[in-house]
Amino acid sequence: MWQCGVCNYIHEGEGPPDKCPKCGAPKEKFAALDEKRVELVERSRLGNSLLMELDSHFDVIFELAQLGIEDDLDPACVKLYQECQEFATFARQSLKAEILNHINKGKWG
Ligand SMILES: [Zn+2]
Repeated sequence: MWQCGVCNYIHEGEGPPDKCPKCGAPKEKFAALDEKRVELVERSRLGNSLLMELDSHFDVIFELAQLGIEDDLDPACVKLYQECQEFATFARQSLKAEILNHINKGKWG
């Protein structure tokens, strides 16, 4: 794996690309990731994808609950929808915090 020193794009291959596909930096800007970092990236890919996928589902839950609040069928329903929104917000922020923790530990790429 090779990482662009300008934008952090990670390229997988025998050598660096001629230029960065993301920012256009020349191949001299790429550095090979060491074995430990490659292991962290590979090991964390499934987990980070799951966290991001969950985040998108909680976004849908938040929007569905908003429709329920606007429907305003009765107070018990509105209260439940509001609780769903609160939990979805808590879950999304917790997922993002965990993703940031992974990035700070090199478990990203
Ligand atoms: Zn780049």
